[in-house]
Amino acid sequence: MQMTSDFSCIQCTSSAAVTVWSDCKDYYLQKSCRVSYARCVGCGLIQQAPIPKDLAIFYDAYPIHKKKSWPYRLMRSWVMGSCYFNTRRHITSIKESALLLDFGCGDGWFLDENQAKNLNLIGFEANPGHATQLSNVLKIPVYADERALLRDHEGRVDVVTMHFVLEHLTDINHAFEIVHRLLKPDGIFYFVIPNIGSWEARVFGKKWHNLDAPRHISFPEAPSIKQLSERWGFDVVNSKSASFPNGVAASLSVVLTGRFRFLIYLLFLPVGILLSRLFPSGNAAYWLRKTAPLKAVDQKSQFGYFQ
Ligand SMILES: [Zn+2]
Repeated sequence: MQMTSDFSCIQCTSSAAVTVWSDCKDYYLQKSCRVSYARCVGCGLIQQAPIPKDLAIFYDAYPIHKKKSWPYRLMRSWVMGSCYFNTRRHITSIKESALLLDFGCGDGWFLDENQAKNLNLIGFEANPGHATQLSNVLKIPVYADERALLRDHEGRVDVVTMHFVLEHLTDINHAFEIVHRLLKPDGIFYFVIPNIGSWEARVFGKKWHNLDAPRHISFPEAPSIKQLSERWGFDVVNSKSASFPNGVAASLSVVLTGRFRFLIYLLFLPVGILLSRLFPSGNAAYWLRKTAPLKAVDQKSQFGYFQ
């Protein structure tokens, strides 16, 4: 067991941590940097240690934000659909004409899939140029400025979704706070994140596709979600493993060829689909409900960003 220096936990601010994986390569985009991950002694969160100052360079040529071809969109809907918030199933239990915010909406696929479902949709993307482009294509408001988003929608949103977003953020407390501010009382916060406690992560280790070093900053597990929920005024209503075949298929490509290769990934995709259906564990989905008012939360917390 090796203690790591230069650590500051993004969940609890503890400075004590134990190294989990060091010298992790970028097997996906082949960036030259290496990063390390450590588990916080205070709260158990696994995160990068230290967190690099400039993250923008890791997202050059990041394909997640590019518009996809229709065969890819069809495949994604079939293969990954179960990870995404199921509006058809759940929104009627909330109400018709609900306001749904997809925070970190990527290429806009989820918003686009949910057009014409009697929902009011809005998106958020941190890159202003990308947000404007998405907004023009989808004809849906896509914000790039959190203050503008709060100005227009604070306390008005029924559902906030974050699909594969939290693991990219350097400040998860801030994320929980802004979502709390945006939601109505009893509003739903749904998110899906990679599960570093999964059998996939244990089998593939540093070559696990969902590690996605250096872009994935932290891997909150159930105890972290519980602590963050209590701190920011949410109840954890439900959580489940989310089926995601990419983990196995892409990790096998890395193990066999030393990097992610799309054709090898496609070759192993049927195996990934089968295993992820039989033993879903590579990702976890959480369903939170806003309960406590933020004012009370602010008073008992050392955190707070918009006071
Ligand atoms: Zn911690």
